[in-house]
Amino acid sequence: MIADNISIAENGHLLFAGQDTVELAGQYGTPLYLLDEDMIRRSCRTYKEAFQKYFGPGSRPLYASKANSFKRIYQIMSEEGMGIDVVSSGEIYTALKAGYDLSNAYFHSNNKTDADIRYAMENEIAYFVADNIEEVKAVEAEAARMESASAADGASAAPVRKRQKILLRLTPGIDPHTYDAVSTGKVDSKFGSAIETGQAREITEFALKQPHIELVGFHCHLGSQVFEEDVFERAAVIMLQFIADMKREFGYTAQQLDLGGGFGVRYVDTDPYLDIAQKIGDVAAVIKENCKSLGIDMPEIHMEPGRSIVGAAGMTLYTAGTVKKIPGYKNYVSIDGGMPDNPRFALYKSRYTCLLANKMNEPADFTCSVVGRCCESGDIIAEGVDLPSSVGRGDIVAVCTTGAYNYSMASNYNRIPRPPIVMLRGGSESYVAVRRESLEDLCRNDL
Ligand SMILES: *Cc1c(COP(=O)(O)O)cnc(C)c1O
Repeated sequence: MIADNISIAENGHLLFAGQDTVELAGQYGTPLYLLDEDMIRRSCRTYKEAFQKYFGPGSRPLYASKANSFKRIYQIMSEEGMGIDVVSSGEIYTALKAGYDLSNAYFHSNNKTDADIRYAMENEIAYFVADNIEEVKAVEAEAARMESASAADGASAAPVRKRQKILLRLTPGIDPHTYDAVSTGKVDSKFGSAIETGQAREITEFALKQPHIELVGFHCHLGSQVFEEDVFERAAVIMLQFIADMKREFGYTAQQLDLGGGFGVRYVDTDPYLDIAQKIGDVAAVIKENCKSLGIDMPEIHMEPGRSIVGAAGMTLYTAGTVKKIPGYKNYVSIDGGMPDNPRFALYKSRYTCLLANKMNEPADFTCSVVGRCCESGDIIAEGVDLPSSVGRGDIVAVCTTGAYNYSMASNYNRIPRPPIVMLRGGSESYVAVRRESLEDLCRNDL
């Protein structure tokens, strides 16, 4: 099986996190997002334990919440002691609503609006990850405004000194060889500022001079669904060299180095299996060795896993509808969802493992495309899928590894309500974390 939380019951039903998916589909309806809470917690602990073992105090993993953002996930991250990344006022709001403590939060994105910056600062987010010099200026201006507003307020004798902690997002100029759409660490990128062009140095110098900014370190993120051997190691070497250069040039010691997210997960059998703890160990060895040879103290190390925390913990269940056999061409199995709940094929030609949840004992000898219900030929979940030839209306189609970038990318295209998220835990317990959208919800904002 594609992940170790997937198995088959004697009656031929697919089990996910130890629970009967056919029964879950009956109980909650389809389309249905399932999330294995126990696996999410295990992944958090794998990262945390590896960070403690290899990097020591102050270093930690941050959950990149864009992978799957809803209130319950922030509660779980809080309980697991994970920091978080957020990229918009909406994610900040959701985290706040969940009671997540923003002193553990990092605010990303390549274009924070003035309103975003104010909202984040008013809610005392701990760190901004500034993408470019404009953002450094905007954060400085907002911090200065807040300081003078507090002085004009007169309530306190002295104005409240505002110094916003920031990291600078840099591009180390590495190509991680993943899909172009999720490759982000090259010099030519809408993200970050390049070391190679001298811009990174320039912004560092500028940030260090700002009275309302405290530069705590540097960040890079190379891409997503990365399997390539030594990408993180190569990035670490370049970033540490830059840190050493800034120390020599400006006497500045970076406290934090954030190497971003990107570890790949298994969507299909040919995807490799990554041992996260071991990868972190490998990266740590390179970091320690380089710090030593560069004569710098090891900064606190952060990483930002999203997909590798929630990806394999997700499965989507659909009900099959029309089965179309076009002689001499292809077979199509239509489902009651599609690109509105999972746009990843449309965006990246992503691959998925699809299973017929109620007929796991039958041979999978019917090759087909699993397609959605939208008015788009590109509304496909997966091509070249093998399902039992008896597949037909009413069967339950399971799509594996949908915990990341599915719900968080979902839309209401064709006025289709978004599915609910049902959490599974303890081998038998299930509960709704996000309820199914109703037809009424679709018209909520229509005047
Ligand atoms: C998307 C993103 C991540 C998470 O990437 P995954 O591949 O899901 O681990 C981390 N950091 C930044 C800045 C990102 O944009």
